[in-house]
Formats: sequence, C-alpha cells, structure tokens
Amino acid sequence: MTFEFYFVELTDLTITQAHQGLIKKQFSALELAKAFLDRIKKRNKKIFAFLTVCEDLAFSQAKKIDDLVFQKRKIPLLAGIPCAIKDNILVKDVRCTAGSKILENYTAPYDATVTKLLKNQGAIVLGKTNLDEFAIGSSGEYSAFGKTLNPHDLNRVPGGSSSGSAAAVADNLCVFALGSDTGGSIRLPASFCGVVGFKPTYGAVSRFGLIAMASSLDQIGPLAKTVENAKIVFEAISKKDSMDSTSLGTDERFQVSSGHLLEQPARQASFKFQDLVIGIPREYFVRGLKPEIEVKILEAIKKFEKMGAKIKEISLFHTKYALATYYIVVTAEVSANLARYDGIRFGFSKANSKIKNLLDVYLQSREKGFGEEVRRRIMLGTYVLSRGFYEAYYLKAQKVRTLIKEDFNKAFQKVDIILAPTSPTLPFKIGEKMKNPLLIYLSDIFMIAVNLAGLPALSIPCGKVKNLPVGLQIIGKEFQDYKILEIAQALEETCRI
Ligand code: GLN
Repeated sequence: MTFEFYFVELTDLTITQAHQGLIKKQFSALELAKAFLDRIKKRNKKIFAFLTVCEDLAFSQAKKIDDLVFQKRKIPLLAGIPCAIKDNILVKDVRCTAGSKILENYTAPYDATVTKLLKNQGAIVLGKTNLDEFAIGSSGEYSAFGKTLNPHDLNRVPGGSSSGSAAAVADNLCVFALGSDTGGSIRLPASFCGVVGFKPTYGAVSRFGLIAMASSLDQIGPLAKTVENAKIVFEAISKKDSMDSTSLGTDERFQVSSGHLLEQPARQASFKFQDLVIGIPREYFVRGLKPEIEVKILEAIKKFEKMGAKIKEISLFHTKYALATYYIVVTAEVSANLARYDGIRFGFSKANSKIKNLLDVYLQSREKGFGEEVRRRIMLGTYVLSRGFYEAYYLKAQKVRTLIKEDFNKAFQKVDIILAPTSPTLPFKIGEKMKNPLLIYLSDIFMIAVNLAGLPALSIPCGKVKNLPVGLQIIGKEFQDYKILEIAQALEETCRI
C-alpha cells in the first residue's frame, strides 16, 4: 500500500486530503482520530483549547466509519473527519459548560441540530472547546476554567469567544471546529489564530441546541484551515430546522429583505473577478486601526484589484453607533437568556441546609456561579430593559440597528462585497486589557455591525506582522453566504494571501 501522506503528519491534513486518505485506505478513521487525540494529550496542557475530550465517543464513531470503508460503501466527505465543538453547543451525553461554573456539571441531554448534522455525515467529535463564559468576551480570558493561549505566541490571547475552537484548528488539534458568533466570536479568534472563520447569515444555520447568549444575534459557523473546508462544513450544517423558527431553507432565502426577491440565487455557480465591485467602507479605516494592520489590508485589496475587481469607496454612516447599539441589545438579551440559571434547574447550586429561603438560593447561586463580566452584562441588561429606561435605551438601540442595516442595504446596491479589517489590533498580551472591559469591547468594533444587520462575513488570514496573523474580513449580502465563500476561495487559490 502506498502512503501518499508520508511527508505530512496526519494532523496536518485538510478535509479533502483526509477524505482521500480514508477512501484509499492509506489510514483508517481510528488511526486518524488517534493521531489527533495523541496530539491533544501533548498540546492541550500548554494551550488549553479543550475543556472536555471525548475519546470513547471519537473511537466508537471512527470504528463505524472504518466498517463502512471496509464494506466498500461510499462515505460522505466529512465521514471520519475529526472535529471540535465549542462548549456552548450540545453534544448528547457529553458535559456542556458554556465556560461557566454555573454549568460545570451539566450533561447535554440531546444533540444540537448542527451536532446531529455533523454526526449524520460521520464527522468524529474529538471534544468540546474552551470559550469565554457564555460566549461573552473577545479574548478567551473569561472562561471559568482557565484561559486558552494563542498557539502563535503563548503570551498572547487567541481572541474570543470561540478561543478553543480557533486555537485547536491553528494548532492542528482537529481538522475543523464549530464556533458561535454573536458579535465577532468566530471571526476575531480566527483572525488572531491565523485560520479561516465564517459567520453565516442569521437564519442560515439552526441555533437549536446552542446555549443562547443573545438570540437575535447568535449564529453558529465553522473555523477551518482553508476556505474550501469552511465551505464544506457550512454546506453540511446549513439546513432548515423546524426546531429553530429563524432558520430558513434554501427556497425561503430568496425571499428575505422585506419581501423583495434577492437578485441572485443563494448558491452561486461561479464568478469572475472582473465582474466584482468591492466596497471599502471609509468608517473602517479610522484612528484606532493599527497602521501595520492597515498596510496588510490594503495589500489584500490591491490583490483583488490586480485580478480585475473594481474598488469603490463607500460609507456606512451609522457605524459609529454600532458599538453602543450592540452593547445595549446584547446586554438586554443576555440578561433575559441567563435568567434561567437559578441554581435549581441546571448545574451549580448553592442550595444547602443553611440557606432557608428560595430567593437566597437564586441570589447566592447566581453570585457564585457567574463570573464578573457575565454579572456586569446581566446588570446592564436588566437596567436597559427596566421601566423608564426601556424607551431611552433598548427601543432607541433597536431603531439605530435598523439604520445600520439600511446602510448595508444601500451599500450593496452599489457593491457586491465589502472588505474591511477583522480586528483593529494584533493579538494582544494576556492580561493586557483585563482591567478595562471597555478596551476589550473595542476589539469587536469592525465586526458587530455585521451581527446587528444579520449578514454573512468571513475572516481570512492575509499575512503576518511580527509573526502574528492578520485577518481580512469579507462581508456579503444577506444569504449570499456561498458567494463570499467562493470569492474567498478563489482568492485563496489564485494567490495565497
Ligand atoms: N466579544 C463580544 C461580546 O463580548 C462578542 C461575543 C460573541 O460573539 N459571542 O459580546
């Protein structure tokens, strides 16, 4: 038997390479899973990407795939491919903590829809990845169980909140991973760890079985080594689901945006760079964007131009209100969603013989079970929703949210995609911003408008500064997920940026 991959480690393979190896019987699914589990054993002590490793589950899944291969049955592209799942997405019978002490001992009673879809395809679940508590955070430092470190520089943050997923992909601890993005949590860690991260259109992927942070913003998506791999995973998980009323099937996706038909089909066959008009929003190239990052982004834009695309400066006028709007909407929804953790129904509880009244059980469980940043969000959220303040804050924020969305709609009448930096800074040092939460909030500045508008966006590596990765963000029209994936893939293939 020839072994085509003798020159690379099994843990270096992409989805397509691993699939080829499996069907050609160059290695078995068990061997592949074992290679990753061995690497996790060695590396996880250093970077702490995984909170739970599911060795038994992985081996039993892998065995099933090997049986299929042995029987010469055709296997799907994801069959036997080892993946990691952010620990706010349920995997049946596996602990699911959402990075919080309050869910420390919670075991998922069912599979999230995305988990089910991946399992149906035969993907191997290696484990659950670390995250900022309840996906709240941008650096990976807010997990109740310890920080994930950036594999490129162990003194720096990997970005958050899908920190473990991004670090695991970057460090070859899995072939791909799932994350969730409420205000940049897939794209920022993808940018900081030098991998591809894709946040689909709101409604393109079911949220059933995702532990909710802010329901009108949350969206699950892939982190992978290549755009092609992110596309394969997106295709597998993007299905209509009757368990999530916001999830749309492919046909319905033609009819979004106030009843207007989208001009182009959701699934694009191909495109030419010469036909592409790219918008560069002036509000994203402002003070605060580090010059060394701006240089890399401008270089990437030049590459698009060289391939024939037209570049147009555009304005997304209300961008300056996006951060404030986001932090009102997000805190309101966080406070409502996290109200269910009361020390009675889930995980951690302070109930004991010394606490006599029910209110004290609630108060003490929530005080001890939630971390500082989560409590801050709950308090702010309760405040913006309270009588007398609701109109001034929450209602106003919803109106500004509409204006932000309208800015994008107008821009997309003139351009096909928008290019911007993913993050204004390079991955920062661990602890550097912990004293001032506002500085951490600012890391999300170029990503949150996309969530408020429900659009698809992808972060793709576009070079390095001092050996630290820089991410370029590609933003697309609602439900044109495949279009931006295909544009990014073409870019990846024609000139490794
Ligand atoms: N960093 C943002 C926040 O803390 C976004 C989090 C996310 O996308 N889950 O709210």
